[in-house]
Amino acid sequence: MTNPHIVVVPAPKQGHVVPLMELSLCLVKHGFRVTFVNTLFNQEVIVSACKRDNVGNQLHLVSVQYGLGSDDHGRNDNSGKSTAEFLRALPKRLEELIEEIKGGGGGDEIACVVVDWGIGWILDVAAKMGIPRAAFYTASATTFALSLRIPKLISDGILNNDGTPTKEQMFQLLPTVPPISTKNFHWTRVGDLAMQKFVFEIIEKGNKAVKEADWLFCNSTYEFEPEAFSLAPQMIPIGPLLASNRLGNSLGSLWPEDLTCLKWLDQQSPCSVIYVAFGSSTTNFNHNQFQELALGLELSNMPFLWVVRLNSTDGINDAYPEGFLDRVATRGKIVDWVPQQKVLSHPSVACFLSHCGWNSTMEGASNGLPFLCWPVFADQFINKSYICDVWKVGLGFDPDETEIVRREEIKNKVEQLLGDKNLKERASSLKEVASNSVREGGSSYSNFQRFTERLKADKGFFNTLFDCLCVPFTMRL
Ligand code: UDP
Repeated sequence: MTNPHIVVVPAPKQGHVVPLMELSLCLVKHGFRVTFVNTLFNQEVIVSACKRDNVGNQLHLVSVQYGLGSDDHGRNDNSGKSTAEFLRALPKRLEELIEEIKGGGGGDEIACVVVDWGIGWILDVAAKMGIPRAAFYTASATTFALSLRIPKLISDGILNNDGTPTKEQMFQLLPTVPPISTKNFHWTRVGDLAMQKFVFEIIEKGNKAVKEADWLFCNSTYEFEPEAFSLAPQMIPIGPLLASNRLGNSLGSLWPEDLTCLKWLDQQSPCSVIYVAFGSSTTNFNHNQFQELALGLELSNMPFLWVVRLNSTDGINDAYPEGFLDRVATRGKIVDWVPQQKVLSHPSVACFLSHCGWNSTMEGASNGLPFLCWPVFADQFINKSYICDVWKVGLGFDPDETEIVRREEIKNKVEQLLGDKNLKERASSLKEVASNSVREGGSSYSNFQRFTERLKADKGFFNTLFDCLCVPFTMRL
């Protein structure tokens, strides 16, 4: 009998590695061998996380070698140079890998290649070799549906051919989807004009590349954004993909996690802590804004756990307001990276002050937390409007006329959020929706199960009646 083997290729960025690693671990649980392709740097951290967690040999971690001796792929290289080199080397490496797995003598056969939508063009390698292809979209289905609408936006004169809006105006995908300003499209909120055009090209390339894929998945659920799935019926939700669904730890972290924050949380009262984090790559705050945020947390008079990445602001040494660290020492914990999924499920956490990256959105929603939304970049504005306007489980901040969110605004919104019983109840209901969807019989669970069954059946992995009978036992998440 042959072993079903799946090759998974994430884009080498934190927000992409986390859900694709989670998908890989679910595939392992469903009886597949998985080869997960990393950059050299990511390889090191993930290998040690997997060793720590005793993942076993069903998950095989490989890296892509290329020119440079050292790298910081997907982490600190803002130029994107090393990521570009990784991507250049990837097609050849993928082809070699597939050949190695097939010829490895272990009886493995490739059931599918799963790649990140953003590098969907890699699927050409699998197509050429006659292997089933799946793409995984790491943002929301609504973001995807908006990307699909691009040709119409151009023909309607809302966008120029290069993706820049012809003018600033509001746009609504469907009457049930919140309107969005053209200046907040996920490709127009990414930096200067050159960057906007670059991201727009990636989106167009991504959409084209995955048209031929056999499956297109995302880390969401029908119940969270049903209207988007009606616009993009090819998109199959299999989320929220969280380590807690399989009672395990998240293994995709690219930074060392500061575990002291969990002990600190243990010492706080239930539902008392503001958790503050802006994901892995959100643009630095300017000095003034960073200080207002610190002073807002101080003014709120609540315990807080704040993730301040080393590159969060210029001149970290004098980043904090004078005396701030001493004044908040007994109720504030500042760390540079946490095991976020664990933090969000901790009973001491009362709310999530978030940049609204899609993974953070799914993780906060799955834990029934109310959000304070501070979107900065790309799709975070769309996600924020779902949190605040559709699910109604969060509040946004209003900046002043100089575009700074002031300390009083932060304090007021914390009080308003935590004093709103209805909002907290809606957040708890959203948690129920999320957990029902990944539970046996739920929509995302069933979608994932159909995928794995289909792969096994297509490739004839059920060679015997015994194999068929075993399937229901190996498929439980
Ligand atoms: N994350 C983490 N520790 C932190 C902050 C973030 O493990 O201190 C994880 C978080 O759980 C999420 C990912 O990093 O899975 C960030 O992805 P998201 O889409 O929220 O934001 P991005 O980093 O892509 O902007």
